[in-house]
Amino acid sequence: MSGLSLDATQLDRYSRHIIMDEVGSEGQQALLDARVLVIGAGGLGAPAIEYLAAAGVGTIGIADDDAVERSNLQRQVIHGDDDVGRPKVESAADFVRGLNPDIAVETHEVRVDPDNAPALVAEYDFVVDASDNFRTRYLVNDVCTLTDTPFSHGAIYKFEGQVTTFTTDGPCYRCLFPEAPPEDAVADCATTGVLGVLPGTVGCIQATETVKAITGIGELLDGRMLFYDAMDMSFEEVEFRRNPDCPVCGDDPIDSIDEVEYTESSCEMREN
Ligand SMILES: [Zn+2]
Repeated sequence: MSGLSLDATQLDRYSRHIIMDEVGSEGQQALLDARVLVIGAGGLGAPAIEYLAAAGVGTIGIADDDAVERSNLQRQVIHGDDDVGRPKVESAADFVRGLNPDIAVETHEVRVDPDNAPALVAEYDFVVDASDNFRTRYLVNDVCTLTDTPFSHGAIYKFEGQVTTFTTDGPCYRCLFPEAPPEDAVADCATTGVLGVLPGTVGCIQATETVKAITGIGELLDGRMLFYDAMDMSFEEVEFRRNPDCPVCGDDPIDSIDEVEYTESSCEMREN
């Protein structure tokens, strides 16, 4: 890959990347050549989309089936007051085009489910899981792991966040959490509330990891779950390894997601 294909406007726009040896024109070209899917254009997706667009990720796919609500605006900073009622993918796409007309944005106004997830993920090199529910989280893990697609995981709860990166040779989310918790043990932002700036921090870490993965620089969070507590402003890290009994990446993995039951309350392996 040669930086010679960057035009004058690109050399200007991405100059602060290009002057660094660690990124350089080759790294910028890798970003421009990359296709990243962001699942969820909400609290985590907003900062992820914003910084990936600014960084010049050449094609950003955005999957979300929600419309913008006024109560989203406290944290979902790519949507504005005039966007209330619009599909989030449309609002997000307009934001991206306004920030960086150099890149392409592909909108998928769908709820990611077992029927559409494999084909959707197959179109992209890297996935940012910015979803807000366990069903999607396990589905993204299983599809990405079975197809060797690296992905970033982020989750938030009130004042706390967790974030990690899954690569093709590390453990997966099920190695750490084999099954989803029961539905009555899980609360969402609508019922518990969330500090508005919290997903900004976690989503920015997800964008950072995405840029590092694409350009091949630094140490990724693979095999490390980073826990963030905004209340006492602390970060803790827990290392985890591939579980040989993991149903998705272990020694005897499933062949396809058809073997998994993805209901709202659980994501359990089907009994055969
Ligand atoms: Zn696993």
